[in-house]
Amino acid sequence: MKGSIPKSADTPGIVALTFKGEVFLKITCACGGEFHTRLALPLGLDKVSDADEVYKIALQDGFGCKQCLVVSDARDNLYEGDEKLPASYWENLQDPQYHPGVKGGAVEHFSIIDYPVKGGKKDASKENLADTKVTA
Ligand SMILES: [Zn+2]
Repeated sequence: MKGSIPKSADTPGIVALTFKGEVFLKITCACGGEFHTRLALPLGLDKVSDADEVYKIALQDGFGCKQCLVVSDARDNLYEGDEKLPASYWENLQDPQYHPGVKGGAVEHFSIIDYPVKGGKKDASKENLADTKVTA
C-alpha cells in the first residue's frame, strides 16, 4: 500500500539462501527482522527456495511486511517493497549481511541457509538435502 512506507528501518533483517557460498535468493526486510529464524528454520527444513513460497512464508511469520519485504534472486527483484533499492543493494547482493537500511551495511539479524543443490528441493535428491546447513 503506497503512502504507508516505513520511514526508518525499525528492525531490519536478512535471510540469504546460498549455494556453494553464493547467494541465489536474498530476503530483506525493514521490520520484523528479529524473526529471521522463524523464516530460516522452515526454509532450511523443508528446503523451500521458490520465491513465491518464500515470500508467503515470510509475511506469515512477520518477517517484514508488504511495504518493506524484498525477495531478490541474483538478477532481479521478484518481490519488492515500496522503496526503491539503492545501487549499493545490488553491488552487495553477494554479502549475506549487507542491508541498505543499516548504517555501515552489516545487519544484526540475519540467517544464511546453505543449500546443497541450487534451487533447493526441486532439483535435489534426498541424500544431498541432508547436508543443508542453517546458520542463524
Ligand atoms: Zn515492514
